[in-house]
Amino acid sequence: MENYFELKLKSISENEKFARNTVAGFLVPLDPTLSELDDIKTAVSEAVTNCIVHGYEKQDDGIITIKVQTEGDKAIITIADEGVGISDIEQAITPFYTTKPDADRSGMGFTLMQSFMDEFEVLSEENKGTTIVMTKIIGGRGND
Ligand code: ATP
Ligand code: MG
Repeated sequence: MENYFELKLKSISENEKFARNTVAGFLVPLDPTLSELDDIKTAVSEAVTNCIVHGYEKQDDGIITIKVQTEGDKAIITIADEGVGISDIEQAITPFYTTKPDADRSGMGFTLMQSFMDEFEVLSEENKGTTIVMTKIIGGRGND
């Protein structure tokens, strides 16, 4: 079955939990394992946090757009901001790379998204914004 939803959220940290739980809840009909759901929740949480912390530099007037498309056992999750953008994507996705080493950032957000999801892509343009596209195949039941 195919399904779709779209959600627009204000860029405040209070919305991070809502975003991750909403995406997870939407995917429950695909019968994911708890471990698959945890992977998705972590990836969504990292992507939304990046929009808030980096994309909008903690300004609360940004809009985060989340789209989830399902096709059979495949979930395609898109998380976008219209913030500052990323000038060097390859550098940004390098493990432990962070532009905010002073705060409680470890530079592992993109690495977590990459390792917990089956496909991962970053699209970004400076001063236009950043879009993360992640795919997860939900079908691990029996593997855990
Ligand atoms: P952590 O996620 O471990 O708290 P982090 O956010 O710095 O630390 P990543 O999530 O891997 O680490 O992101 C790496 C870097 O990519 C960030 O430090 C930031 O410079 C840049 N970045 C990530 N997401 C965005 C975004 N939405 N807009 C602009 N820059 C971003
Ligand atoms: Mg991060």
